[in-house]
Amino acid sequence: MADLYLDGAWVGAAAGGRRTIVCPADGTTVGEVDEADETDTLRAVDAARRAADDGRWRDTPPTERAALLGRVADLLERDTDEIARAEALDTGKRFEEAKLDVADVVSVFRFYAGKGEEVERVREVDPGQPHVRSRVVREPIGVCSLITPWNYPLLQASWKVAPCLLAGSTFVLKPSEITPHSTILMVRAIEEAGVPAGVANLVLGTGPGCAGPLSTDPRVDLVSFTGSLAVGKHLMKQSADTVKRVALELGGKNPNIVFADADREAAIDNAMTAVFLHSGQVCSAGARLLVEESIAEEVVDTIVERAGAIRMGPPFDEDAQTGSLTSAEHLKKVEDYVATGLAEGARLRCGGARPDDERLASGYYYLPTVLDRCSVDMHVVQEESFGPVLTVETFRTEEEAVRLANATRYGLAGAVWTGDPERARRVARALRLGTVWVNDYHPYVAPAEWGGHKQSGIGRELGELGLEEYQETKHVWENTEPAPTGWFS
Ligand code: NAD
Repeated sequence: MADLYLDGAWVGAAAGGRRTIVCPADGTTVGEVDEADETDTLRAVDAARRAADDGRWRDTPPTERAALLGRVADLLERDTDEIARAEALDTGKRFEEAKLDVADVVSVFRFYAGKGEEVERVREVDPGQPHVRSRVVREPIGVCSLITPWNYPLLQASWKVAPCLLAGSTFVLKPSEITPHSTILMVRAIEEAGVPAGVANLVLGTGPGCAGPLSTDPRVDLVSFTGSLAVGKHLMKQSADTVKRVALELGGKNPNIVFADADREAAIDNAMTAVFLHSGQVCSAGARLLVEESIAEEVVDTIVERAGAIRMGPPFDEDAQTGSLTSAEHLKKVEDYVATGLAEGARLRCGGARPDDERLASGYYYLPTVLDRCSVDMHVVQEESFGPVLTVETFRTEEEAVRLANATRYGLAGAVWTGDPERARRVARALRLGTVWVNDYHPYVAPAEWGGHKQSGIGRELGELGLEEYQETKHVWENTEPAPTGWFS
């Protein structure tokens, strides 16, 4: 079956490119997909531009566009097992976890499906002249390039696709080349739900191989990207030549701050999920534990003991608590990262290696790892590993905790654990992060905006602002009593 979706048809790559997708849990082949080059992407951009310009989607009433999202949600829910299976095999995450991800994706589509009435908000402003009507309206921005990563392939795509469609914009979507299958299924659901040809387009392939036009083609109005800081910066530079709007969801090195007055058991348990969930391949992973010095030994000892007991396994192993890393290349990066930390003087408390388990030998597994005696100037504190690696720093005062937490170039998310509500409020306010959890870690909801401060990104996904990314503002000044101005007479 052909895997690129261009102008309402499933087609193969013009140049015949194909890619084998490998399951990182055991190295077996999951399948083969078509691999685009720039010729295919240019066709996709062309189709999306025509669909944006002729009004076939822009002029569809917003409530009908919202209804389509509702149908997509129903179809994704119907196909949960098939989609979760595809995502688990591509990424190496547990099937049960992938099912939860699909449920999240469904809730994102349902959230925006409920916003049909709010899309075309018109704001009447007072022009100060009785014969003038002055309105500020929100319109679709046009053609959007949507580029997504491999850790939550479908979820990250849904955060872009659902508001883009609701806004009346059109898109070319390019998922990560190593995890395309769940995204293909989502685009099939969008097609089945009845999207007009050309509105939704899908290309598969690498950034250098096929994504060039997504940030350079003058017919594209917006680039919305989720992925690494390095590629985000590259896309921003590329987009500058044609002054595209750029929305970036980038990395994080997220502080998880534990004060001595916190509920100790809750803080320790959540510190585990904060960093080891999905083997740390979470942009908001709490990979940086900042713990008050007086309780540091007890907290870290307990985390180390529990980390050593985490059961790893392939997607359908019901006993497993977490899976593999998503590629051999990424495993190597995590290994190098830990080696750097040790060379910098961090102390290895657990992990720091692949598991010594015959069952897991053909997969890209890496043991949950704790590095303590870290300090803020170390590379391993400043940069994300995107793997199951926790770095530990200690602090003595609230002021020091905040100063340390803010001392990286990232600002995506983080948490503060304390029994003192006043302190919680002070610290939450002082942290330069897009999301702050108080006495919790990881939850997010579709109505609340998600995004980064500092170099963790630009713009917001989810919530109302997540819709506005895909809209443009227009001021319409309407003179109801036209008359000559007489200026040059
Ligand atoms: P990546 O930057 O390598 O790739 C992301 C996407 O960009 C992929 O589709 C890739 O093919 C594409 N790409 C790569 N080079 C490109 C180029 N030159 N031009 C155009 N596209 C190109 O990131 P990744 O390794 O897939 O994902 C991991 C990163 O994503 C981490 O840094 C993580 O923190 C970040 N992330 C952030 C969020 C968030 O919400 N802020 C969510 C998930 C992941």
